[in-house]
Amino acid sequence: MNIDEMLKQKQLKVTPQRKAILTVLERSESVLSAQELFREVLELLPGTNFSTIYRNLDTLLSRGLLCRIPRENGGDLYEIRREEGHHHHVICKGCGASIPVDFCPMETLNCQLEEYGFTPTEHHFEVYGLCSKCKKQHRIP
Ligand SMILES: [Zn+2]
Ligand SMILES: [Zn+2]
Ligand SMILES: [Zn+2]
Repeated sequence: MNIDEMLKQKQLKVTPQRKAILTVLERSESVLSAQELFREVLELLPGTNFSTIYRNLDTLLSRGLLCRIPRENGGDLYEIRREEGHHHHVICKGCGASIPVDFCPMETLNCQLEEYGFTPTEHHFEVYGLCSKCKKQHRIP
């Protein structure tokens, strides 16, 4: 599916900004922060301002076209959504590659929380580490 079709499928207008964001994320091998994304979008669309990009990121996220991954030291990372449904990510600290995993720790936790009468409304679960390529490079067994 090309980017125009992706946007239309979610009933979103095809704008140059949205196309640029999705193009950059689709090309990228790693997850990107909003700033990194902005820098690359500028190369495709000079003169774009950051707030426009940020607003569009929110729209694309709410329609399920992107994944937002909280970074270990604050801030968020973005990637194009490659996996349908609820999932989490394993992220390489070396190269930024992300692997979607369909394991969700909440499924186990929910029964326990029920005992406390606690209803979770959201959760985050990220695993950071090194991918096999980066491990070889750093000579880590
Ligand atoms: Zn994802
Ligand atoms: Zn890596
Ligand atoms: Zn989950």
